[in-house]
Amino acid sequence: MTIKPLIFDRSFEDLEHYFEQRGKPAYRARQLWEGLYQSLATSAIEITNLPLKLREGLETDFRFSAFQEQDQLQSRDGSTQKSLLKAHDGSLIEVVLMRYDRRRTACISTQVGCGMGCVFCATGQMGFIRNLSRGEIIEQVLRIERDLVEQDNHLTNVVVMGMGEPFHNYAETMAAIETLNDGRGFNFGARRFTISTVGLVPMIERFTEQNLQLNLAISLHAATQELRDQLLPINARYPLGELMHACRRHVRITKRRITFEWALIEGVNDTLEQAHALAELITGLNCHVNLIPLNPTGGYQGQQTRPEVVDQFLDVLHQQGISATVRVRRGVDIQAGCGQLATEHQNR
Ligand code: SAH
Ligand code: SF4
Repeated sequence: MTIKPLIFDRSFEDLEHYFEQRGKPAYRARQLWEGLYQSLATSAIEITNLPLKLREGLETDFRFSAFQEQDQLQSRDGSTQKSLLKAHDGSLIEVVLMRYDRRRTACISTQVGCGMGCVFCATGQMGFIRNLSRGEIIEQVLRIERDLVEQDNHLTNVVVMGMGEPFHNYAETMAAIETLNDGRGFNFGARRFTISTVGLVPMIERFTEQNLQLNLAISLHAATQELRDQLLPINARYPLGELMHACRRHVRITKRRITFEWALIEGVNDTLEQAHALAELITGLNCHVNLIPLNPTGGYQGQQTRPEVVDQFLDVLHQQGISATVRVRRGVDIQAGCGQLATEHQNR
């Protein structure tokens, strides 16, 4: 069975071309784009500023959704909502909505599984299955925004921190962000996106060259080559020194603050030695450190750092004048850690 192309995989120019080829005015693309990204239509039929014949043609030629919702979970405190989405090929991905700090943040996925193999990560434990297309990435954001609009609300932020390594699917991820940022449609400000990467140095360099207003987060997790090697296999290919060089260059060129993520694992990377090594590594760099208590996963023995030890670690950073906060764990009761719900479904 051939499956129809997904409408969200088409750029604005592609859609102009589509209409032109059918002898229709190019402004139809603008109307369709408004229908998809401003009115958040879920089918062509809903886009009533287009003539019926055109809408019927679009329904015949395109799919207006890539996913079926398999499951949705709400955390007990109501702050976090997680949806498990199933693609046409059976692939499962997760998208999370977090409501706190007066923000509504969507956490979206860029791949099914991930090939980077970080030892503590549920998605890494699945291995790499496939890249998501730009349209599949876009649709995750649209789905959340549709839910919020029903409650008279809107998304304020998008973090690319769900399943997968965004810089291992660079073109599709950046095309999705570009579409969502487009003023003719969804018009979501560049500064409201954050992309998190495990540290693919050549892609960080490319990202720096583009000098966009997007926020960049780096999954650091260890401040010495030896320890980072143990936790993140990619560190063998792109060593810590090269990564830090790319980070410093990024801040210098874009003049934007960078974020470092650090999942605290008891007795592994929560020691005072690591805290001091981290402070030294990032000294003088315009950055912020996000400490995240580890979400335990089935495939990794490590445990979460105790709160007193988290505070000690934080104190060392603060004493060294480093901006750092502990990200409160939300939605732990709904496996809101990256990849955890999808893994659980696969194992059923
Ligand atoms: N692949 C990208 C983005 C997705 S992961 C990256 O690695 O940056 C988003 C963040 O969650 C990363 O910082 C990642 O290291 C972290 N993470 C993964 N598994 C975790 C776990 N079990 N507990 C806490 N944080 C985890
Ligand atoms: Fe992939 Fe990020 Fe998980 Fe590492 S932490 S395995 S890069 S999703």
